Amino acid sequence: MAEENLGAHHARKQAISRKAQRRHSRFYELRAHWSFNRSAAVEPIQWHREHWVLAGTALLITLLSGLIMPSWASAMRPTEVPTAHALLPLALPKADPMAASVPTVDDWQAVQVKPGQTLSDIFSERGLSMTELQKVMDTAGVAKSALHSIYPGEEFDFLLGNDGSLKGFRFDKDSATRATVRLDADQPTLTMQARAMEQRMHIAHAVIESSLFGAGAKAGLDEGMMVKLADVFKYDIDFIKDIRSGDSFTVIYDDIYRDGAYYQSGDIIAAEFLNHGQRYTAYRFKKPDGSYDYYSEEGRPLRKSLLRTPVAFSRISSRFSVARKHPILGYTRAHKGVDYAAPTGTPIHAAGDGVIAYRGWEHGFGNFVLIKHSAKYSTAYGHMSRFEHGERVGTHVRQGQVIGFVGMTGLATGPHLHYEVRVFGKQENPLTITMPKPQPLPPRMLAQFEQQVQPMVARIKTTDTNIRLARREATAHHDE
Ligand SMILES: [Zn+2]
Repeated sequence: MAEENLGAHHARKQAISRKAQRRHSRFYELRAHWSFNRSAAVEPIQWHREHWVLAGTALLITLLSGLIMPSWASAMRPTEVPTAHALLPLALPKADPMAASVPTVDDWQAVQVKPGQTLSDIFSERGLSMTELQKVMDTAGVAKSALHSIYPGEEFDFLLGNDGSLKGFRFDKDSATRATVRLDADQPTLTMQARAMEQRMHIAHAVIESSLFGAGAKAGLDEGMMVKLADVFKYDIDFIKDIRSGDSFTVIYDDIYRDGAYYQSGDIIAAEFLNHGQRYTAYRFKKPDGSYDYYSEEGRPLRKSLLRTPVAFSRISSRFSVARKHPILGYTRAHKGVDYAAPTGTPIHAAGDGVIAYRGWEHGFGNFVLIKHSAKYSTAYGHMSRFEHGERVGTHVRQGQVIGFVGMTGLATGPHLHYEVRVFGKQENPLTITMPKPQPLPPRMLAQFEQQVQPMVARIKTTDTNIRLARREATAHHDE
């Protein structure tokens, strides 16, 4: 700005200021520290002060963005990914089915609990008296509590004499301990045997063709493991909307074997998910307090401060392929939230830690809950069939805690959750908004993390390389 212009500008401002000052002298007197009240004498200094404030603010913003932007940039930068993955059948070491049958001297008969059955039902079924059941209970001692609640599919072993009398009864005290009651000796005895529990690590890779679960099944991953995989990445990937054919994943996971036989699926130790060209990684890390959480390759927590999809995930994920063919999730840009169609009664979870700020009837939205997470963020949930008991305005809720159930109260044509994310009270699109980031690992823990996950990172990279090579080879052969 030219000197004269600046001078004229000042003169005009002074004139306006003096005129206003005459009219509202008291007002300006009280606010003398504001820059409105400028006498000709102090003005240059005050302009300087303003400039300093402006310059200081600008400098601060520059410094802050210098600190923040690189981490954001690296967080947002898609890592170079192979354009396509070959489906490489990876041999999964599975349990030897023969290992399951442990030969015994006695002729034990295995019985599986059917739904609705009680222990006395099972004893009666085998022609055994309640006296014999009582003898078992009396002898079971420390293991007795395991017999108080039995579940369908649980297995009991009976050893019967030629006369049909009960000679022995075998059951699981817990998943790792087998208890045996013998009634055929002079005195009833109880013996306890620790079972060999073993974790076996597997690696699986798959390319998604039509559905997430289909791809998992091809790679030898059961539905439970696929839900775990989706759960790990749920903060970054919307498994209802974002999954594309051609997406791929590599998972390192544990399975639990008991006495050498497959017992149950374990946890995901490491995973890589390529979604629409974007690479996501997850590594399980044991924190000093003993709890586990998942972090990206760089040690950033995957868990976000707010969930994008606060309805029971497994309920919707299991319908993923169906949802693509017949969209059940009505989402329009025209309305200020996302509607998640789900059966009445589906639990609704708090999107993040916070305090219930409103709980009651809201016009159009029926039973409505508003949770305040911070000064900046709040989330809203509408059309609930009912609220969770014991919560009211002021109640603290934790991320994932059930706050109510899906319904169609208010103006709704079918049961669904209307979900809003509000930033300073203004609704933003929950599907695209950048969710607030949680605290990263402190430097000392980051060093531990890197040491712990390094072998897994190497293993996933080797797998990726092998797949790429296999793909190249297949292409080369095809060209010949
Ligand atoms: Zn809605």
